[in-house]
Amino acid sequence: MRKVVKFGGSSMANAKQYEKVKRIVQADPDRDVVVVSAAGKRFKEDHKVTDLLYLCYAHLQYGVESQSIFEMIESRYRGICNELELKVDIESELAAIRSQLKKDVRQDWLVSRGEYLSAMLMADYLGFQFVDSAEWLKFKFDGSVDTAASYATLKEIADDRAVVIPGFYGVLPDGNVKVLTRGGSDVTGALAAAALDAEIYENWTDVSGILMADPRIVDNPDTISYITYSELRELSYMGADVLHEASIFPVREKDIPLNIRNTNDPEHPGTIIKESFPDSYSEKDKLLTGITGKRNYSIVTISKNGMSSSLGYLRRILEIFERYGICVEFTPCGIDSFSLVVSTVASSKFIYTILGEIQEEIEPDSIDLIEGVSVVAAVGRNMAHQPGSSGALFDALGKNGINVRMISQGPEELNIILGVNNNDFEKTIRVIYDSFVK
Ligand code: ASP
Repeated sequence: MRKVVKFGGSSMANAKQYEKVKRIVQADPDRDVVVVSAAGKRFKEDHKVTDLLYLCYAHLQYGVESQSIFEMIESRYRGICNELELKVDIESELAAIRSQLKKDVRQDWLVSRGEYLSAMLMADYLGFQFVDSAEWLKFKFDGSVDTAASYATLKEIADDRAVVIPGFYGVLPDGNVKVLTRGGSDVTGALAAAALDAEIYENWTDVSGILMADPRIVDNPDTISYITYSELRELSYMGADVLHEASIFPVREKDIPLNIRNTNDPEHPGTIIKESFPDSYSEKDKLLTGITGKRNYSIVTISKNGMSSSLGYLRRILEIFERYGICVEFTPCGIDSFSLVVSTVASSKFIYTILGEIQEEIEPDSIDLIEGVSVVAAVGRNMAHQPGSSGALFDALGKNGINVRMISQGPEELNIILGVNNNDFEKTIRVIYDSFVK
């Protein structure tokens, strides 16, 4: 069975990285569908080619000279091509793009050229067939991907040959190129894996999988070996930056495992993401899969005697937030009070107007607003049906002098979410990590 392997921008940044990619692909003959990003950063202060292409387009829009930016892009690809002594006629490819810059070039087409050139060069280097994503990744006019048509087309094109596919873009019904949102090559890889019913979707990047906690907060956190899609959703929602969200759906639907790997450390097994794992995989002794969180929430608490036994209060209050386009993220409840947790940044403009409307509509006994709260999520499928897991967690926080201001746990017991003062944010994550993981 085939393996679809996607290499991100840092894996495509220069000739040295191309060599690593080749070694990885050649190490396993099943890795015969390769999806690539545009050239990324070679060092911290470097530029991503896609950013430069967007910049180039902005310059053209305002009639500002763009040649010097385009030359930076040209030199990146020319350099790789020459260093690896590839056969691609890079000068004609670059000239074709350059000539479009003088015309009324479309933004999506221009910014997709990073992936296009990367795939051209990598196909040549690996001796695989180049397959333009404008040939198979089809969008509907509403901007969604036409998966049925895309899958059928790729199946036919890539049926019995090894291919390299550019990430990030596809084609609209009128023939124009359209790009996915930023980071969209992850999605292209997932769509290709689903189209070809791949055995696995390997997403090669510059980290050895997903870490259990932010390394800026916890020293040297462990890598997560196995994580379910639901856990990943919880971690990403609460701030862990992992994969393009839309890349989950195509592989999840077909139950294709997604493996995050490191091009710079190819022996590391990385992280495997799947719908569920058999018990033997489950690392039952590991109660937590990951810890994450976000700062700067506001908590509005509304109290009114007799509220719990009356109908419609929560709905009416939520409707007020909805009218102002504010997403209420958690709603922890007391008996005759409940709280609404909202992002401070998102709500600050309207919060006092909203409180005024609540006052008028509900006539509560009191309304309190607390700001400067962080929300921390401890996520782990193994916490379910384990008596004592939340007890142990609160015990550890209490012993470390952390005051918990809000608690929320869903009945599926996949996570425990707590609100703490912003000042305690990092300490909370460290205490949970040290108590449960170390
Ligand atoms: N090159 C695109 C970006 O930088 C897409 C990707 O790399 O996934 O967003």
